[in-house]
Amino acid sequence: STPPTPVRLRGSLDAVPAYVAGKPAAPQAGVTAYKMSSNENPYPPLPSVLDVVREQAAQMNRYPDMGVTALTAALAERLDVPAARISTGPGSVGVLGQIITALCDAGDEVVFAWRSFEAYPILVALAGATAVRVPLTSEARHDLDAMAQAITDRTKVVLVCTPNNPTGPSVRTDELEAFLDRVPDDVLVVLDEAYLEFVTSDDAPDALAIHRARPNVAVLRTFSKAYGLAGLRVGYAVAHEPVAEALRKAAIPFGVNSLAQAAALASLEAFDELDVRVKELVGERARVVAALEEQGWDIPDSDANFVWFGVGERTAELAAACQAAGLTVRPYGTDGVRATIAEPEANDRLLEVLASFPRD
Ligand code: PMP
Repeated sequence: STPPTPVRLRGSLDAVPAYVAGKPAAPQAGVTAYKMSSNENPYPPLPSVLDVVREQAAQMNRYPDMGVTALTAALAERLDVPAARISTGPGSVGVLGQIITALCDAGDEVVFAWRSFEAYPILVALAGATAVRVPLTSEARHDLDAMAQAITDRTKVVLVCTPNNPTGPSVRTDELEAFLDRVPDDVLVVLDEAYLEFVTSDDAPDALAIHRARPNVAVLRTFSKAYGLAGLRVGYAVAHEPVAEALRKAAIPFGVNSLAQAAALASLEAFDELDVRVKELVGERARVVAALEEQGWDIPDSDANFVWFGVGERTAELAAACQAAGLTVRPYGTDGVRATIAEPEANDRLLEVLASFPRD
């Protein structure tokens, strides 16, 4: 264990949960190993994006553009919002850090569904704020009614993860609008759309339209998933000007590095090419879900690039069965297993494991 230190660390750090990252693929003799544990894009970077990154790398003795000007302008144009409404950061998790830092003093409350993205309770605890976890429904969806009831005078932020990581469903537009009608206008609601590009359900919300209509709604997005830039760390929020200005103030200076800025800009420009891959992954998701249903599995509707197996006490057993087949998936305590939709061969092998996994 760690030796003691006389240095006076913040006592409240004890309350910060550890982030358990998805494990890398574990090579084994005779089978190709696949990583299905971090919701990454399985495709390598586009050659055009790699070229831009290589070119940019020649100037890495210089600091990046602190204002992230070119990328912010391109996003503003694409999203049809003023550039002043955008704050960028090192991954959307970095932007979420800006949000919590800009809004929460010690003792303030942040409401979110649970289970959801595991960084939420970490960022909240780091700020000395209080995480209020509202259990998902039995269908692994947000319980927006219970979330509205969980809001108190101390609530500063509500995080709505749509589609929800790790379970998959999006919130529906009608339930979200009804929820937002109940949220006080001095509470910021963040719609975390990390998996937006994979959404296919008709009743999923148009988060930017909702943002435009409501001054207390912000949208959080990333280049890590559909855009395939997880290793470079770029994300952004769209929030009304005073909030976005506060987020930029709370940002770590030079947080978005120059390679990341260049790659994100090039990826925006190449989105049509990237979208072909997104559509293939969405097609694979449909194929996997249909096959699982055929096998008798009851899995929540997924609007993201992963599927959820709510196997409870058998979580470790299912993760081990996947691992034995060369597939690294993500176990969550005694809640269930999340598997990322990956290459067709990996998905085929996942289906084989699940076909022979005994069910109660
Ligand atoms: N939000 C959600 C819901 C996520 O699942 C993730 C990544 N797992 C993130 C945000 C953060 O992604 P990044 O920091 O790579 O943008």
